[in-house]
Amino acid sequence: MIQARVQSAFKEHFGGGSRLYSAAGRINLIGEHTDYNGGFVLPGAIDKVILAAIRPNGTDRVRLYSLDYDECVEFGLAEEDVSSQQWARYVFGVCRETCKRGGKVAGFDAAFAGDVPLGAGLSSSAALESVFAYAINELNGNGFDRFELARIGQATEHNYCGVMCGIMDQFASCFGRAGHLIRLNCKSLEYQYFPFHPAGYRLVLIDTCVKHELASSAYNRRRESCERAAAAIRHRHPEVTFLSDARPAWLEEVCPELSAEDAMRAEYVIGEFQRVLDVCAALEKGDYATVGERMYQTHWGLSRLYEVSCPELDFLVTLASRQGVTGARVMGGGFGGCTINLVAEERYEAFVQAARNCFIAAFGHAPNIYPVVISDGARRIE
Ligand code: ADP
Ligand code: MG
Repeated sequence: MIQARVQSAFKEHFGGGSRLYSAAGRINLIGEHTDYNGGFVLPGAIDKVILAAIRPNGTDRVRLYSLDYDECVEFGLAEEDVSSQQWARYVFGVCRETCKRGGKVAGFDAAFAGDVPLGAGLSSSAALESVFAYAINELNGNGFDRFELARIGQATEHNYCGVMCGIMDQFASCFGRAGHLIRLNCKSLEYQYFPFHPAGYRLVLIDTCVKHELASSAYNRRRESCERAAAAIRHRHPEVTFLSDARPAWLEEVCPELSAEDAMRAEYVIGEFQRVLDVCAALEKGDYATVGERMYQTHWGLSRLYEVSCPELDFLVTLASRQGVTGARVMGGGFGGCTINLVAEERYEAFVQAARNCFIAAFGHAPNIYPVVISDGARRIE
């Protein structure tokens, strides 16, 4: 059990008296490539977490022990003390970003470990940032709200890790609640919890373990297409700031002015806006059949209109549909990574086995399989 390992490692390295904190990785049920289009995402925290035992040490230095890397790192709290160890930069960044916002960061000792798979699209880095942002905030009585803690994590990625991410991952890790997904409006940052109690269903991620190149240049080209489509619509409908503000009929009006490619990209984005709303309405009714249907629609929109899928992902989603899986789609930016699957209990074992075996037969390597349960976000455990 991670908790016992973290606590005993803390004792061994630093002695007693620590507090234990937890923060989770996340999934996103639906709402893909929507963030930069002013649309919605629908993430939730999962039962894969990073746990940190932590205690102020009465100095102005931070001493860390990572169980998973079996490495110790020590740093001061001035800007130039940045660690050369990648994993420690996440913690250093959180300390610095807390200071930059006027928060206090007293020196501390911490031991930590987790079971969020690294680089699989479940945002282990956000879990790491959030657990320290939350703990440092509480231990120093800084009184930042959860939104500020999420921003501290996001700014850490931007300023100390070179990842220009949006706010969703840290938001989900900080705001997650068991039994709930959170719809975040990426334009206004308003959010709302929706019940997620899929009795009789399981959520499972299947990681293709591939990452096709071209992801970043393709991403930039998708953004440019969306901006051109939004600009064309704005010409007639000035209230359209982002593509997600546009109605499907407005896109039709300007289609003759757009390239076929731009029109396809816009059709996906405008459709995805409505699909998130449909899923939220369905969640309130406990209608998981509709949730699943929309997940498939998102997948094929991403594959055929937005063109960010790949053979491995399409293979898994096709297989899911043949196995009677309720919903399946690529999760994340595309060109590899995971599919997220909503599977009825009675089909679960057969599906997971088939996915594994057929994937190996087709692509020569095994996918990773991660069952997940929607759980609480950042919090103190002990
Ligand atoms: P992800 O998609 O999982 O967020 P990233 O590349 O953004 O992938 O973040 C992974 C990095 O976060 C790791 O290389 C490591 O530096 C840090 N990290 C994540 N989990 C842990 C952990 N359990 N222990 C130490 N560092 C971790
Ligand atoms: Mg990350």
